[in-house]
Amino acid sequence: MRNRRAVVTGGAGFVGSHLCERLLHDGYEVLAVDNFVTGSPANVAHLSGFGSRFDLVEADVSEELVVAGPVDLVMHFASPASPIDYLQLPVETMKVGSAGTFNALDLARREGARFMLASTSESYGDPLVHPQPEHYWGNVNPVGPRAVYDEAKRFAEAATASYRRSLGTDTVILRIFNTHGPRMRPNDGRAIPAFATQALAGVPMTVAGDGSQTRSIIFVTDLVEGIVRLAASGLPGPVNIGNPYEVSMLELAERIRDLCASRSEIVFVPRPQDDPSVRRPDITVARRELGWEPVVGYEDGLRQTIAYFASLAPAPAEVERV
Ligand code: NAD
Repeated sequence: MRNRRAVVTGGAGFVGSHLCERLLHDGYEVLAVDNFVTGSPANVAHLSGFGSRFDLVEADVSEELVVAGPVDLVMHFASPASPIDYLQLPVETMKVGSAGTFNALDLARREGARFMLASTSESYGDPLVHPQPEHYWGNVNPVGPRAVYDEAKRFAEAATASYRRSLGTDTVILRIFNTHGPRMRPNDGRAIPAFATQALAGVPMTVAGDGSQTRSIIFVTDLVEGIVRLAASGLPGPVNIGNPYEVSMLELAERIRDLCASRSEIVFVPRPQDDPSVRRPDITVARRELGWEPVVGYEDGLRQTIAYFASLAPAPAEVERV
């Protein structure tokens, strides 16, 4: 009997690389498809140890997604994901959320495979309901700068739901909340890489606004466990996967500074337009339907991510810029 086979778009990115690794450990054959616009072959170089069970193909999934041989699972994770990236790549972000999603859905449909969309808590925009349950429709500015990401993902959700409803494709929508861990880029502009690299370099730590806005951060291994359980379930979603432990950005900066034993000063910079004020997942559905909840503690996860950034060669010029 052949191994089950998964296609992971965006497989050379931060989350995708951890997902490929886990699927390989679970016995899958994995084909990662990536155009390296924000990811890198280096993120999956260590997976060559799995031999012919792992393959990496360079391709832009917004153009086409043609895969030879049987496929059991299509996981559509390709998309610029950090604000710096999607603001620099606005059209590419909208294309991978629209054309890229159709191409991934069509592959799943042709192969009779299960399809998973990596959607996001950004689907809720700047939420007026707190914490955010899956049945909340969100509060998104469709013409603001962040819309290229938020609305692309909302469109991708609608496309996924329509393939399920009208074509009978086996689909599931996953809404990921802010995730951190090894293989994030130090200069990707997200809060944790920025705070950690600044604290480690001893340069000022840049907190947006007054730092009272909140996020709930999940360590990547917890996320991947939730993803794998959701993929194996028959659920259509959307399902939130995130850690309900909520912190303010100022508290996060101070905690990272403490964990780095750093003396960096904290400075306040303007908040980006439409930056959500609060964010915390309601994970009732994941707890009940998947028996899943995060197990990595807040400080434990941060320590692991900081250790990763500490292991990288310092890049002071980049640190200054974030
Ligand atoms: P990432 O930028 O590290 O990974 C995205 C990957 O997709 C990169 O390797 C990039 O090169 C690839 N990609 C982008 N456009 C492509 C295209 N047209 N064709 C082929 N490959 C393409 O980001 P990430 O944090 O790993 O995010 C992965 C997915 O999870 C994204 O879909 C993102 O929206 C979603 N997500 C992530 C988070 C998070 O906190 N990391 C939160 C919510 C949702």
